[in-house]
Amino acid sequence: MAQIQRRHTAQITIAGVRVGGDAPVVVQSMTNTDTADVTGTAKQCADLARAGSELVRVTVNNEDAARAVPHIVDTLMLWGIRVPIIGDFHYNGHLLLKKFPACARALAKYRINPGNVSIGRKDDDNFRAMIEVAVENQKPVRIGVNWGSLDQALLTRMMDENGRLPEAERKDAREVTMEAMVESALRSAAMAERYGLRHDQIILSAKVSGVQDLIDVYRQLASRCDYPLHLGLTEAGMGAKGVVASTAALSVLLQEGIGDTIRVSLTPEPNGDRTEEVLVAQQILQSLGIRNFSPQVTACPGCGRTTSTFFQELAADIQGYLRKQMPAWREQYAGVESMSVAVMGCVVNGPGESKHANIGISLPGTFEEPVAPVFVDGRKVTILRGDRIAEEFMAILNEYVESHYAPRTEMAGSA
Ligand code: SF4
Repeated sequence: MAQIQRRHTAQITIAGVRVGGDAPVVVQSMTNTDTADVTGTAKQCADLARAGSELVRVTVNNEDAARAVPHIVDTLMLWGIRVPIIGDFHYNGHLLLKKFPACARALAKYRINPGNVSIGRKDDDNFRAMIEVAVENQKPVRIGVNWGSLDQALLTRMMDENGRLPEAERKDAREVTMEAMVESALRSAAMAERYGLRHDQIILSAKVSGVQDLIDVYRQLASRCDYPLHLGLTEAGMGAKGVVASTAALSVLLQEGIGDTIRVSLTPEPNGDRTEEVLVAQQILQSLGIRNFSPQVTACPGCGRTTSTFFQELAADIQGYLRKQMPAWREQYAGVESMSVAVMGCVVNGPGESKHANIGISLPGTFEEPVAPVFVDGRKVTILRGDRIAEEFMAILNEYVESHYAPRTEMAGSA
């Protein structure tokens, strides 16, 4: 794994999942179902958890949603899915948490947006009410600032103060906005502690939608506190744009040791698969060498030397096969997630790259002899030919997993 010096933070525990301190960087996600729909939301929470989301957040935006939360949590328990469910509150969280104590108890953590919890008020009674419920139920809280809903009173005050500075010292509006986000998070955290929450029950986030802005704001936040930080580029967008922008922003920060839990906020295609955001988050961490989640397939991009699509199909089949097997393999075999597999298109880089992987196959390029040497831990072990190459390669993969990774039951028995 990569040697990255993580920033020192307090550690909080969310229904058994540790975040910050020496805990691994945790992957989280959020549902997009109507929370009032118990079965639909529980099903999506289960899908996200099975995909590897270690925390799942649901919006709690009205009374029906608050009423549904305990039933969602019970349904997941019934299905044998253990994943902490976090409530996302805006505007009316103080009312909902007070009126629906079963919801307050069932949630593992509350997300509070300090920019809209006390809108139109001069006091902080609403914020205080939410913290008091958290203290009463001993629940951790994420104070989640978002620049789309930044505390306007605080921003205006800081803009005014900046405007009164001598011209040479004046900052531009972007800088003041970033500072206001940090201030909003830190002041709210200090207030939460004053109202009784422990220091190690607080996570902070300050999400923006620009990559450079996100990097700046998190560097500032990281340098000014030791609360664990939740990272995410808000409204990252759809498809390649969302994946690349999130990866760019999160990678810089994670490489600097900043970030204790992450979410990739992708906009799915209509009826698209919500679990994609979990896979992308895992892939970011695995690509950086921070955590292993799934065996990695190294596949060459193909070129004029591979005029057939055979090797692309094989690479996709193997990736799909690994993804399908992983939930069971992860339970059965210790360390299988660190396995590497290479599927290469021709003789130029095929044998070399295959030798670097745990298992590699070098397919024949155009005009090459129709044979596919297979390498296991750097040694050529066999040559596949004919039209059952895919099946035979997968059989070798299975055999490798069974013979190279210790069954978890044995490990538990010998511990
Ligand atoms: S390994 Fe062969 S087929 Fe793949 S990109 Fe390189 S030269 Fe092209």
